Amino acid sequence: MRDTSKHQGLRNQLANVLSAKGILDENILNAVRKIPRHLFIDSSFESHAYQDKAFPIAADQTISMPYTVAFQSQTLEVKPGEKVLEIGTGSGYQTAVLLELKAEVYSIERQRELFKKTSLFLPKLGYNPKRFVFGDGYKGLPEQAPFDKIIVTAGAPFVPKPLLSQLKIGGRLLIPVGDSTQIMTLFIRKSSKEFEKHELGDFAFVPMLQKKN
Ligand code: SAH
Repeated sequence: MRDTSKHQGLRNQLANVLSAKGILDENILNAVRKIPRHLFIDSSFESHAYQDKAFPIAADQTISMPYTVAFQSQTLEVKPGEKVLEIGTGSGYQTAVLLELKAEVYSIERQRELFKKTSLFLPKLGYNPKRFVFGDGYKGLPEQAPFDKIIVTAGAPFVPKPLLSQLKIGGRLLIPVGDSTQIMTLFIRKSSKEFEKHELGDFAFVPMLQKKN
């Protein structure tokens, strides 16, 4: 694993690109400047790692575009010490951003290969979520609920009820909803029964899968 000053320069440029696209939270831009994204993807894509693009990772999945990761992180408004549930660990890049924001992260992945690979890889970089879970994100993580924030990084055909019910009052669920493309949807829990809903534009994610392979 190598990280060089050339990579650092490319990361600084990527942070500038994201800030021009509307990412204004300095903590998120600093995370982008710090996290070696080229180590999260296959070495054949290394030279492109700091473009604002998605790439294939293992198990037919993708690492999300940096803009998408930054947008989701900014919209969640993560504060230090908050309990965050992430659905779709994937490469672990979004997980690393949440950890740079000093969240206590619980991350669920349903592809065993990615779960194994990323749960070994992230700690090597010094990124330690509270828990990596191999399981089905549709169920959330009832034993650790409630959460301040829940982020879904796969396209969900519908909003899973357990995720809404595992939010604290005042908590936020950010989930891309739809089939081929998704509408980024933010739910803010106002009371035990009331949720405020905001639709925040179109995105494209790999599907949130419902059955075990
Ligand atoms: N944030 C990751 C994302 C990737 S792609 C990154 O940037 O690398 C979406 C991830 O969600 C994939 O790894 C996929 O396997 C996972 N996923 C899909 N359906 C899921 C489910 N029901 N529960 C948990 N993870 C799921």
